[in-house]
Amino acid sequence: MRLRRNGVVKGRGRGAYSHLYRTKDWKDLRLSVLERDRYMCQQCGTALTGKAPSSDSPVVNHKTPHKGNRRLFHDPRNLEALCKLCHDGSAQASERRGYTVGCDEHGFPLGIAEWSD
Ligand SMILES: [Zn+2]
Repeated sequence: MRLRRNGVVKGRGRGAYSHLYRTKDWKDLRLSVLERDRYMCQQCGTALTGKAPSSDSPVVNHKTPHKGNRRLFHDPRNLEALCKLCHDGSAQASERRGYTVGCDEHGFPLGIAEWSD
C-alpha cells in the first residue's frame, strides 16, 4: 500500500535532483534569494506576485546549472529570482538535462544552424 502511494514520487518534479529541492536548506535559501531580489524577475522585471503555475510566480534559478553539485546548488551568488515564464523559457531546459540542449531563449532548437548550409 505504502509503496503504491509513495513509489511514484521519485522521478517527478525536477527529475534526478528533485531530492535537493525538498530540503529545508533549499527552502530557506530560496526565500532569502527571493527577498534579496525583492520578488522581482531578474530577467524581465516582472513583480513575482503570482502563485504557481501562473507566469508571474517566483522561481529561483541556478545561473550555472548545478548538475547535482551541492556547492553550486546552495551558492546564493549562483541564484537569481525569475518569473516562471522566463525560467521555463530558457533556464530549465539545460538544468533539467544537466547539459545544454533543446531550445535557446527564443524557443528555437539549439544546433539548428548546423543543419542548414
Ligand atoms: Zn521574467
